[in-house]
Amino acid sequence: MLTINQERLWQRLTDMAQIGATSAGGCNRQALSDEDSAGRTLFESWCHAAGCEIRRDAIGNVFARRAGTKSSLAPVMSGSHLDTQPTGGKFDGVYGVLAALEVIETLNDHHIDTEHPIDVVVWTNEEGSRFDCAMMGSAVWQGSLSLTDARALTDLGGVSVGDELERLQLAGSAPFNHNVKAAFELHIEQGPILENEGVPIGIVTGVQHMCRYRIQFRGQETHAGPSPMSLRRDPMRSAAEFINEGYAIAERHAPQGRMTFGYIHASPGSPNTVPGKVELTLDLRHPDGEAYADMQSLVEAAIAETATKFGNTSGAQRVWEAPGVSFDEGCVS
Ligand SMILES: [Zn+2]
Repeated sequence: MLTINQERLWQRLTDMAQIGATSAGGCNRQALSDEDSAGRTLFESWCHAAGCEIRRDAIGNVFARRAGTKSSLAPVMSGSHLDTQPTGGKFDGVYGVLAALEVIETLNDHHIDTEHPIDVVVWTNEEGSRFDCAMMGSAVWQGSLSLTDARALTDLGGVSVGDELERLQLAGSAPFNHNVKAAFELHIEQGPILENEGVPIGIVTGVQHMCRYRIQFRGQETHAGPSPMSLRRDPMRSAAEFINEGYAIAERHAPQGRMTFGYIHASPGSPNTVPGKVELTLDLRHPDGEAYADMQSLVEAAIAETATKFGNTSGAQRVWEAPGVSFDEGCVS
């Protein structure tokens, strides 16, 4: 059976982790920084040694190609990202990039040719920490974000993506080629499920449907002392009951339903004033389209009901929504 060289992959992960190493044991190699550039240089040197041809596109995405025996065929693509969050880990992204390169090394070691070319890809600014746009490089490649808009993004110091691409000479002239046979990404688990169950690897079958609500409950601002509980129109009562109702909806859609109340704000925000308004956000997710829609309608009904119950009014806006994706069954299998 064909196996990779574990020592080589581990050594490269360790070598890459020295670039931007933090005292906590992780990495700070933010997009288009000197460290990101150094990481790319190291990666490209390994690719050159493995016989790959390196191309970069205008947003600095890197494609390291191992030729196929039929050069007219579309490439099989695999990779991830080398940039990190300011307090990132050693493996997030890097593992997917270096594992893809390890596949090429293993094919080389065993003198195995493939018909299709294989491209190891490094996407620019996947994390979106320094330049606030996650998955930026792949969005430009894919066409959902214009090159002009991406280049104009600035960090907190006012330095733009375009400035850094030029300073570090990271942009190239490779076309945004969408003719791809298949694409794979190996990534460390970002949740606790596999680790909890002691399962070493899982196969992602799709992306959740997800949306974000901004919700308001409005009542009557009044003093905490003189106002009897029975005469108040306290929007916090509605918010409290609605949040509980929300968790109950999530439980009815367990284990795949997700409900997160990540922000809550009472106005005017005084300890001895019954608030006149309470605002909160809700992040709602489910991988199944029908269950997702069901959760949405239950949530919207619960907002209206809990407002009325305590004499308040409510508003709810779905401020962001991303439809789920089911991955190609052939790729999954
Ligand atoms: Zn990642």
